[in-house]
Amino acid sequence: MSAVPQPGHVDEIPERSGIAFPLRTGQRLTVIDPKGCQVSDLLAYNVDDTDEVISSGRTLDYAETIRLTTGHLLYSNRSRVMLEIVEDTVGLHDFLLTPCSYETFDHFYPDLPRHRGCFGNLAEALEPYGISSAQIPIAFNCFMNVPIDAASGKLSVLPPISKAGDFITFQAHMDLVIGLTACSAPASNGGSFKPIHYRVD
Ligand SMILES: [Zn+2]
Repeated sequence: MSAVPQPGHVDEIPERSGIAFPLRTGQRLTVIDPKGCQVSDLLAYNVDDTDEVISSGRTLDYAETIRLTTGHLLYSNRSRVMLEIVEDTVGLHDFLLTPCSYETFDHFYPDLPRHRGCFGNLAEALEPYGISSAQIPIAFNCFMNVPIDAASGKLSVLPPISKAGDFITFQAHMDLVIGLTACSAPASNGGSFKPIHYRVD
C-alpha cells in the first residue's frame, strides 16, 4: 500500500500490514499505538538515493545507548541524520532486531501458519519507490520491548509497555521515503495483532 498522507489526518495501518509514503524535510511523523501493546517497524530511505538508508549500527554507535528516546537522532548508513525523535510517551523501543518474516515464523512459530511479516509487508509497500527487499535493514521498532540480561547478554522479546494512545514523534532532517508496519509476530505484540495509527504534520 502506498499513499501520500494528508497533513494532520490520522491514518490507520490495519493489523499485520504495512505502508510506505514520502516525508519531507521538517515534517513530523507521529506513530500512535491506538489500542496499546502493538509494535510498528519503521524504515527510512533518502528519497533521492535509496541506497542511503536508516542504520541501526550508525545510530547506536553515535547515541552510545540502545535506549533511544526524545532528543536522539537516527542516522543513515552514510552518517547523516535522517530523523530526530522529538516526542515519546513510551521511552522503550528496539533498534536491534530485523523485521519479522516468513523465516521468523519458521524459526519461532513452526506450529503457526506462516506469515510474510513486516519484511514482506515492507518489501511490497516500498517496491513502488524502486526499493528492493535486499535494501531492507534493521528497522526502528517503535514500542518493541527487547530487554537484555546484563549478566548473560540474553535477549528477550516481551510485550510492549505502550498503552492505548501512546505515541512517538519523529522530525525529518532530509526528504525521505518511510516504510511503516503494524507488526505481525505474536511475541512482539503480546500475542494479539492490532492496527497502528500515524499522522504527518
Ligand atoms: Zn514484525
